[in-house]
Amino acid sequence: NEHIVKTSLKSYPVYIGEGVIQQLPVFIKEKRASVTKILIITDETVGELYLSAILPLLSNFHVEIMKVPSGEKAKTFEIYYDCLTFALQSKLDRHSLILALGGGAVGDLSGFVAATFMRGIPFIQIPTTILAHDSAVGGKVAINHPEGKNMIGAFYQPEAVIYDTNFLNSLPLHERRSGFAEVIKHSLIEDLSFYQWLKNHISSLDTIRNDEMVDFLTRGIEIKSAIVAEDEREAGIRAYLNFGHTLGHAIEAEMGYGKMTHGEAVLIGMLFALQLSEKYAGLEFDINGLLEWVQKLGYQTEVPGDLSYDRLIERMKGDKKSVGQQIKMVLLNEIGSPILYTFSDEEIMRELNQF
Ligand code: NAD
Ligand code: ZN
Repeated sequence: NEHIVKTSLKSYPVYIGEGVIQQLPVFIKEKRASVTKILIITDETVGELYLSAILPLLSNFHVEIMKVPSGEKAKTFEIYYDCLTFALQSKLDRHSLILALGGGAVGDLSGFVAATFMRGIPFIQIPTTILAHDSAVGGKVAINHPEGKNMIGAFYQPEAVIYDTNFLNSLPLHERRSGFAEVIKHSLIEDLSFYQWLKNHISSLDTIRNDEMVDFLTRGIEIKSAIVAEDEREAGIRAYLNFGHTLGHAIEAEMGYGKMTHGEAVLIGMLFALQLSEKYAGLEFDINGLLEWVQKLGYQTEVPGDLSYDRLIERMKGDKKSVGQQIKMVLLNEIGSPILYTFSDEEIMRELNQF
């Protein structure tokens, strides 16, 4: 199952399926016959689980391993600096290759290390979360600054994405929900029949059939990469990928990062954006059907009770889509047809009170 992602500068393959990790050494040999050293960057959780599956495949290469803290703690200046120090001390050079083994946090960090080490060396994404179907394509790599998430980064494409669904079996339920919310998002902004397929086929996230997982990860990646291909530098339609994120990010930030996963917050944001879409953009859609489905999947569907609407609105105004302190949100005219819409504080306050 190979899918090709094209960007203006480069196209690269995305392999998705059970056991595709076996392709890793073949791919490296074909593509990078001259590779000197390989640096695997992974986090403590994923390293513990899957390094033992990967290392035997790389026995013909010189491999170095850097383990970073799990989750968002990986995306700091300190850890970034430690990775560069380790790469220099391990004598990596411009023919070396970085493997990012983990979720979006490891992918973002490793990609930024790869983009900047000696002005850029190749890297391969080996995603281990559902959310990483979103983060591993699109070419954005970044670390965080105390002043803001993902504020220091680059656009940098991997050589390949090797997405072995066997690695997803150990994913905790709330991380499954986080990633699956972005799959739902991709369906809503682009493809009604994909949405209906998801709703008919996925009735639990505890166990997901492998063929269904492959199908929805593949379709999610197709949708994301098509949008990004049209707008690599985020001048226009890439903003549609922010559906659900205006309120979602505000909830995430207000709760304190890590209290609720990214996708779970975005799901609440999508429900809010759908309410506004019915009212302001003429959307006709069975929101209740969606609501019942996602509640069955274990999602929270309301803004957590203790959050202040004033503070959420302040956060929403700070969103990167906003211009001149007005709140801009992605709405849907219909499923698959997003638009950008501007709101006043008062309108958002009224809608939050009715949500
Ligand atoms: P993550 O890498 O933090 O993974 C979430 C948690 O799951 C971590 O604790 C991790 O150790 C654990 N984990 C990962 N794989 C596992 C597995 N197979 N089994 C058990 N546990 C596992 O984060 P994520 O949710 O994958 O991604 C979130 C990050 O992605 C954020 O930093 C976000 O900013 C970034 N992101 C980037 C883009 C982009 O375009 N670059 C897009 C969306 C999100
Ligand atoms: Zn997101």
